Amino acid sequence: MNQQINLQEKMQKNFQCSNFGEKKLVFGEGAQMPVLMMIGEAPGGDEEKQGRPFVGKAGKNLSSFLEVIGLEREEIYISNVVKLRPTKSSPKTGKEVNRPPSKEEIAFFLPYLMEEIQLIAPKMIVTLGNVPLKAVSGDNNVTIGEVHGKPYNLEEERVLFPLYHPAAIIYNRALSQVYQEDLAILKEFLGTL
Ligand code: URA
Repeated sequence: MNQQINLQEKMQKNFQCSNFGEKKLVFGEGAQMPVLMMIGEAPGGDEEKQGRPFVGKAGKNLSSFLEVIGLEREEIYISNVVKLRPTKSSPKTGKEVNRPPSKEEIAFFLPYLMEEIQLIAPKMIVTLGNVPLKAVSGDNNVTIGEVHGKPYNLEEERVLFPLYHPAAIIYNRALSQVYQEDLAILKEFLGTL
């Protein structure tokens, strides 16, 4: 736990010296040495407000995901590649809206994610969408469309299990069935760990 706080302090300090401006960082949370560590892309508005990953709408999606695979939120660890909420000004309303994280933001936070994974030491990592998949696999050419639902061996007997990002399912209903099938494979796989 201390090492995790040290890592967060290091991240915060270096972030304050960076060019990303003043933003609240949202750190990962959850069980140590869990069976599953889930990694999303970046926090959204609810997460930024509450300072916790996967709350609000994303938290609801997470609850149904956990129900299907038979785990509780407290049993897993949850984090994001990018720890700030990437925003832009909406051309229509002028309000701050979410945008995908930039290459620079991903490159800044990636080394911390790698340290976080070492500290948390999960048996399995579930990535949601392309950003965490590329970050964790270290393969910039891999795409979620090719590898979703297929377990992949990482170093230290850790398994990477790529899933679509739940937001992708909202925008592309055809993926819903595929996502459910992937969850069934994940559940079965978890039973073998
Ligand atoms: N909330 C998060 O914390 N991460 C995501 O990827 C999406 C919503």
